[in-house]
Amino acid sequence: MKVGDTIGYVSTQYIVSVKPEEKSIVQQQNTSKVEAIPGQHRDPNNIVIVIDPGHQLRGDSAKEPNGPGSSTMKARVTSGTRGVVTGVAEYILNLDISLKLKTELENRGYVVHMTRSTHDVNISNKERAEYANSVNADIAVRIHANGAGLSVRGAETLAPSANNPYVSHLSNASISLSRHVINAYCAATGFINRGVKTNDTMTGINWSSVPVTILELGFMSNASEDRAMQDSTMQNNMVQGIANGIDAYFGL
Ligand SMILES: [Zn+2]
Repeated sequence: MKVGDTIGYVSTQYIVSVKPEEKSIVQQQNTSKVEAIPGQHRDPNNIVIVIDPGHQLRGDSAKEPNGPGSSTMKARVTSGTRGVVTGVAEYILNLDISLKLKTELENRGYVVHMTRSTHDVNISNKERAEYANSVNADIAVRIHANGAGLSVRGAETLAPSANNPYVSHLSNASISLSRHVINAYCAATGFINRGVKTNDTMTGINWSSVPVTILELGFMSNASEDRAMQDSTMQNNMVQGIANGIDAYFGL
């Protein structure tokens, strides 16, 4: 960031993200420009983050549109994967990490909202995205874990492509967020970095109106990663890594 860069817009409601073009026209009304000052960073107290711990106690196979106006229907929320060795369900790992991440991000000064903080809920992927939209989140971070063959391992993030039919305007910011998060996460955990994957089939991405990433923490189908992701020291590393990536995205 250099002198004169626009870092946000002051309004009576909040200061918007470093990528004001991602905010709606309505949200930019009645605002005045703030310029970057060398050595000063944006105050995280004005940054709103929504964490979505993927899945829930029971999946819901009722259908919802894959994106606004889409005739493609997908399950509201699936049941997720499960640890091959530990037997821990993905929805439990996702919430454990998300709650620790919430604490860490709040310690760093961010405003954090969760789509769920218990397991016995029924919130669809569309509804999770709409929740982040409704609280004017600067970013949405969706926490998941992967399942595949026993030997597949590593972490990755998902973001909409520039050709996404619903949220192409969020692609650049979402890819930037995804890249910062996966790089910092793998640096902190030592997990193999599978990089950023663009994906235009995720309901929780396609309904978003804010930059969004899906973090796949690792493979619960891989014995060593399944065990590692239940280790408390590793969980702390995982959380530090995600938070470091979010800091980096915001230039903090
Ligand atoms: Zn999942």
